[in-house]
Amino acid sequence: MPASNITLRDIYLARQKIAPIANKTPLIHSGWLAERADVPVYLKLENVQETCSFKIRGAANKLLNLAPDERERGVITVSSGNHGRAVSYVACRLKIRAVVLLSEAVPEVKRRAIQKLGAEVIVRGETYDQAMEHASRLQKDQGLVMIHPFDDPLVIAGQGVIGLELLEDLPEIDTAIVPLSGGGLMGGIALALKTAHPGIRTVGVSMERGPAMVESLRAGRVVDIVEQPTIADGLAGGIAPNIYTFDIIQKYVDDTVLVSEEEIAGAMAFALEKHHLVVEGAGAVGIAALLYEKVERLGQHVAVVVSGGNVDLSLLLEIAERNRRKDK
Ligand SMILES: *Cc1c(COP(=O)(O)O)cnc(C)c1O
Repeated sequence: MPASNITLRDIYLARQKIAPIANKTPLIHSGWLAERADVPVYLKLENVQETCSFKIRGAANKLLNLAPDERERGVITVSSGNHGRAVSYVACRLKIRAVVLLSEAVPEVKRRAIQKLGAEVIVRGETYDQAMEHASRLQKDQGLVMIHPFDDPLVIAGQGVIGLELLEDLPEIDTAIVPLSGGGLMGGIALALKTAHPGIRTVGVSMERGPAMVESLRAGRVVDIVEQPTIADGLAGGIAPNIYTFDIIQKYVDDTVLVSEEEIAGAMAFALEKHHLVVEGAGAVGIAALLYEKVERLGQHVAVVVSGGNVDLSLLLEIAERNRRKDK
């Protein structure tokens, strides 16, 4: 199926399918960010989603659509952490065998959560791409079904359900600011929003350190990047090889911006202090983009997707404390 064949209908079907497993998440007004940006700003809280990230939406849609013999064989995935946790959670509920490949870069808090759910966890390689290579081999050897973290029509449609919820809760939405890595999240949301109303501005946010999709957009083709350590560990990893998301992002995303490690930390501290929200680095990049005025031509009804909250609490407190001292 070419990328252009994923439609709004697939996203509606996904919504129906995943309703028993993934929650509809709250959309809250942020007075603090509204003041900063001088327009109403809303936060879409996927950090309070089941498994603490939106990844459960795509994982549920994919696993619930497996054929009986595929369920029998079991699934394998590679993940920067949150997708692995989501796949494990859903597989466990559906009694499907799950193998999760993680690189050494995945934080321990994420690895432990996956193991607790009962998946078979294998830590291999220094980067996401190295873990992916090993996963591809294992998948072939053992006849498992690969559950790709972003480059899969069912996964993209699952994440796109967030777009439907945004349209429902904020019908006037004219700007969507969304964390961007492999592009399953941004691709699904942008597809839903742009199909409903082409005038809605879609802005993807990545970290300065190794933004694979942004580099690829600039080059006009999928390029390899060097993975670097980042506080936004949920955004780490390359996008090659790529069948679906690069095309969708190229087609439906208006603009991309980059945020620094400092800015991401500032946004995590902001979310904790002002909103009492636990947000991981990857989940905070949209807030950072607004907080540090990276987005040009903001509309009048802005929604920011806060994509996840899986962060080591002592690290978060340290970041908050550091930022408090800086502010004084
Ligand atoms: C996976 C992830 C992203 C990026 O999603 P893509 O579909 O890869 O672009 C953003 N935030 C969090 C918390 C994630 O886990």
